[in-house]
Amino acid sequence: MPKYNRVLLKLSGEVLAGDKHFGLDFDAMRRIGAELAAVYNAGIQLCMVVGGGNMLRGRDIQTLGIERAQADYMGMLGTVINALGLQDVLEKLGVPTRVQTAIEMRAVAEPYIRRRALRHMEKGRVVIFAAGTGSPFFSTDTTAALRAAEMGADCMVKGTKVDGIYDKDPKTHADAKFLSRITYREALRDGIEVMDASAFSLCRENGIPILVLDVQSPGCLVSALVKGERIGTIVEEGEPE
Ligand code: UDP
Repeated sequence: MPKYNRVLLKLSGEVLAGDKHFGLDFDAMRRIGAELAAVYNAGIQLCMVVGGGNMLRGRDIQTLGIERAQADYMGMLGTVINALGLQDVLEKLGVPTRVQTAIEMRAVAEPYIRRRALRHMEKGRVVIFAAGTGSPFFSTDTTAALRAAEMGADCMVKGTKVDGIYDKDPKTHADAKFLSRITYREALRDGIEVMDASAFSLCRENGIPILVLDVQSPGCLVSALVKGERIGTIVEEGEPE
């Protein structure tokens, strides 16, 4: 039996861009797709929220003189491109999928309907949520926490390019300490930058553990989600170790 029954995976745009700074790297996406297919084939109900940082981020282009709300809508549309790319990759690997968008665009995907998304997963389809929450001034991390709560996921995975949470930025601090487990309270108190505070708070309120791991590391998702091995950092309620 897999460790988890239903998982929401947040895939950031930069993961879909592989080593590029912009756009999609389909080889990298195929590698991640194969990891996702393995999780799916192990019997875990899977849904995903895709980011859009590889296309554009609202707050970045705001600095170029574009109104923030307008910039955020552009960012949300970027996530739809990512979702459609990921859908194609997964379907070629034999994984049935549906894309649901928080901004209606019926010619390319279904609108987000909570109960329909649940039904898709029960029927063995992977659901990919795109266009964030549909509202500007939010992030796809917050979207992921929101959808994880709506879907009744027993775990939210934040798939990144680092292997977990450190007490300092490991890129700039040689003495950064890896944390295998922290509490929501610590994550909020210490301003852990791996996710925004509203995403941590939503998961905390709904008792959803957050697993932060390097989604590009081969076998990582299956080890953590199917075999239940301790990989990455888990953020959950309780006393620190
Ligand atoms: N965005 C938004 N509302 C949402 C989710 C996302 O306006 O509910 C916009 C926002 O501009 C954001 C962009 O979409 O910068 C891409 O999402 P994000 O930066 O979270 O992507 P990631 O960093 O995960 O790739």
